[in-house]
Amino acid sequence: MTSDFWHPLHDTPAFPSARYAAVADRLGKVLKTKNDILLIQAEAVVALEAVAVSLTRPDLKTVNIATSMYGGWFGQWMRRGGADVIELKAEPARPIDTAAVEAILNSNPDTKVLAFVHAESASGIRNPLEEIVALARARGIVTVVDAVASVGGHALDVDQLGIDIAVIGPQKALAGPAGLSAISISPAAWKLISEANGPRDSVLSLLDQKAWLESGRGMLPGTTAPLEFFALEAALDRAEAEGIDQVVARHVRAARATRAALAAMRAELWVELTKGSNLVTTVKLPQGIDPDALLSVAPRVMELSAGVGPGAERLIRLNHTGRRARFDSVLGNVTAFGMGLRRLGFKADISAAVDAIALHYGD
Ligand SMILES: *Cc1c(COP(=O)(O)O)cnc(C)c1O
Repeated sequence: MTSDFWHPLHDTPAFPSARYAAVADRLGKVLKTKNDILLIQAEAVVALEAVAVSLTRPDLKTVNIATSMYGGWFGQWMRRGGADVIELKAEPARPIDTAAVEAILNSNPDTKVLAFVHAESASGIRNPLEEIVALARARGIVTVVDAVASVGGHALDVDQLGIDIAVIGPQKALAGPAGLSAISISPAAWKLISEANGPRDSVLSLLDQKAWLESGRGMLPGTTAPLEFFALEAALDRAEAEGIDQVVARHVRAARATRAALAAMRAELWVELTKGSNLVTTVKLPQGIDPDALLSVAPRVMELSAGVGPGAERLIRLNHTGRRARFDSVLGNVTAFGMGLRRLGFKADISAAVDAIALHYGD
């Protein structure tokens, strides 16, 4: 093998160490928080596990709201460390009810941690973040929010709501790289972590990462992965140029246009607008067809896919996350869905759907 060929990915320059802390500050602005931001050089599932193993300890009363496999994993990691985990499940593929959260907190006044996913891209649902965090806050409970999918797609004001720990990744609505993630941590969360006696000298240790903060953010926690960090900077450049609130507004518009179009087509939306995510819209197929049948006849649009997980077996997802949160993707998704229905012998008023989309995009 000769090394005489030029290749853009060869000899990547080191990521300038002075920009590491700046990246954390920029992510803090995305989350609207002054809390500490830790950067994790791995995809967001690792950051979620790091939070769990750093918080858990024997008998720590934790209410874990599970609305997807991610929530299920979080509870499992907490239990592995000895925590007393109460699992609160919604109906399959449905959001949790605020009243159910309130009831379980009332009957478990010794709860220390409450964990849940903000918005789910597997089923297109959104849990009532504001209400749940307010319930926890009134009781002095530390909240852990998996906002990996929702960041950039939904308003997420960490300080105003008082979210103690938020875990995010750039690879969904922010349209960035998947190989790194970030965690915001409040003083109350640090207190719980310091009491937990969690692991040290471990990639999952948040206390190890704290050494970076305590060094005045000088000594970096390991060699920075340059490709990931350059890509994250590029994603942040683009999101900041658009404006983070505008990124969210673009997702809101894509979600509303998609829903209005599907309603005009008389398709059955899986959840009402107030309980849906802005990342994907899920629609229930008519009796007698399953997602594979529709996907096999619909024009191949990569933004159409089957629902994932229990309860989502009869759902089609129309994806409008990240760069797909725009007019052409919305139009393509809805049209392809309608064509799929027609090819299977069902009626679908594509013209009415297109009119609805045009209306939402300024017609
Ligand atoms: C995508 C996602 C994650 C992270 O999963 P990856 O394997 O890093 O893509 C975590 N939680 C939720 C809710 C997600 O949607």
